[in-house]
Amino acid sequence: MIICAYFSKMLANKNEKRSELSQLGEFGLIEHLTKNFKIQQKTTLRGIGDDAAVLNFDNEPCVVTTDLLIEGVHFDLSYMPLKHLGYKAVMVNLSDIYAMNATASQITVSIAVSNRFPKEALEELYVGIETAAKFYEIDVVGGDTTSSTKGMLISITAIGHAPKETLVYRDGAKEGDLLVVTGDLGAAYLGFQILERERQVFKANPNSQPDLTPYSYLIERQLKPESRNDISGLLDALEVKPTSMIDISDGLSSEIMHICKASGVGVNLYEDKLPLDPTVIATCEEFDISGTTVALNGGEDYELLFTIKQEDFPKIKANPNLSVIGHMTEQKEGMHLITRANTKIALQAQGWNSFTKEED
Ligand code: ADP
Ligand code: MG
Repeated sequence: MIICAYFSKMLANKNEKRSELSQLGEFGLIEHLTKNFKIQQKTTLRGIGDDAAVLNFDNEPCVVTTDLLIEGVHFDLSYMPLKHLGYKAVMVNLSDIYAMNATASQITVSIAVSNRFPKEALEELYVGIETAAKFYEIDVVGGDTTSSTKGMLISITAIGHAPKETLVYRDGAKEGDLLVVTGDLGAAYLGFQILERERQVFKANPNSQPDLTPYSYLIERQLKPESRNDISGLLDALEVKPTSMIDISDGLSSEIMHICKASGVGVNLYEDKLPLDPTVIATCEEFDISGTTVALNGGEDYELLFTIKQEDFPKIKANPNLSVIGHMTEQKEGMHLITRANTKIALQAQGWNSFTKEED
């Protein structure tokens, strides 16, 4: 199990090799960390090693997104192995490119680290970044490396492209459109809860060997999420163009509200249609929480949420990757969850908000 292996490694690490960053110097470190990156995309004319990367998208619009991750705010290294952190940091960004129905092609990676981290820790981080770049066929074309007085910061910028007519925005949903989500929801949030629980257990008893096998799907969704680079091609093959699209980072509820607000529509979302993995259902029972709450507000699913015209329903209905979970209404009807008991509840955004005060 990943996590047990990680905890035991934390102990073992005390005797492992530790090379101080100061011995290597900034340029030595950059060269060391980036030596394995190879150009895979024909849109990359020049990658790492000059003053700037050079990209060429011919006549296609270019899509750019960036995210900043801060230790203690967005990630906790006591249960997030650095390898997974590197991988996840890339996924978070690629997901935003795919949510535009575009192809991701390049990233830049900027890091700030304190001298608490040895060279070996950054190597781990870069193994995760390299693995993601290889699987998702994107080029790492630059970045920046600097020191921080405390902790670690990672900023990744992702770049993609798509023909103008292919791009999908948040503001295109119309009354009567169907609301569709990929994959299943809530697992990453529960994975986080399990890791947090095990961390407490480990603190109390470092020799505990919990069996986390029943939760492996949840933990994997938290520590090693994937982003949906398959959906654009799938929809293309089905000859469906979404009218609006967004990725689920903060939680289904808040993403639905973004689409509604941008598009000027309302929504009826159906509780009984929310896609939940059996592990999510079982774990919700164990924690005595509602699967619906977890699906609505959990976040970090990195699935895609989109709307389609009603007439496209027959094209997608048999696809196991896609669930129709509601339909768009007139804006004045508001945004509602229709429960299993057929009552109508106003949707609330309780997703992750980094500016929410702790006591809120
Ligand atoms: P400059 O001083 O021109 O900003 P740097 O010495 O910072 O150049 O970087 C040299 C090259 O290495 C550039 O191509 C830069 O984009 C790349 N680079 C720097 N840090 C990183 C990093 N952490 N990850 C990937 N590429 C990096
Ligand atoms: Mg620089």
